[in-house]
Amino acid sequence: MPKFKPDKIIIHHTATPKYLTEKDIEQLHMDRRFNWSYRGMKGYCGYHFIILPETGLRNKALIKAMRPIQIQGAHALPNCSAGIGISVIGYYHSPFNHTLRDSDIGAIIHVCYKMCKTFNISPDKIYGHRNINSTDCPGDNIYKYISHIKEKVKEK
Ligand SMILES: [Zn+2]
Repeated sequence: MPKFKPDKIIIHHTATPKYLTEKDIEQLHMDRRFNWSYRGMKGYCGYHFIILPETGLRNKALIKAMRPIQIQGAHALPNCSAGIGISVIGYYHSPFNHTLRDSDIGAIIHVCYKMCKTFNISPDKIYGHRNINSTDCPGDNIYKYISHIKEKVKEK
């Protein structure tokens, strides 16, 4: 596999119920054959990171690393092979219209900041999936925060 050199970050939602876990997403991506293997490890998730949102039961968003950042993701194909994929569990668009809480936005900013630093990516290159492919993803209720997220990453 050629060396992965990401030049952008792409934000998604999973378009699923909000209570799913990273294991559920792994299963869904196994069915879609997003298999990866790297240095003896293997898995199925197409996103590099998943954010488990704050819920009534979980008082803070959690960040899960799902796919090594040394290898290409499977999350905005076929248009984008050079993006770090970050996906928030839930459905942030009609008809479900989940909404982000502060700790969810904080988690997105945190991962974006780390990835911008690690790969020397400009915060201006943080996109919603809909900027890359014809899709509603990451949903209006995440997309409206993208410029805020860029600004916060720049300020860090
Ligand atoms: Zn997406």
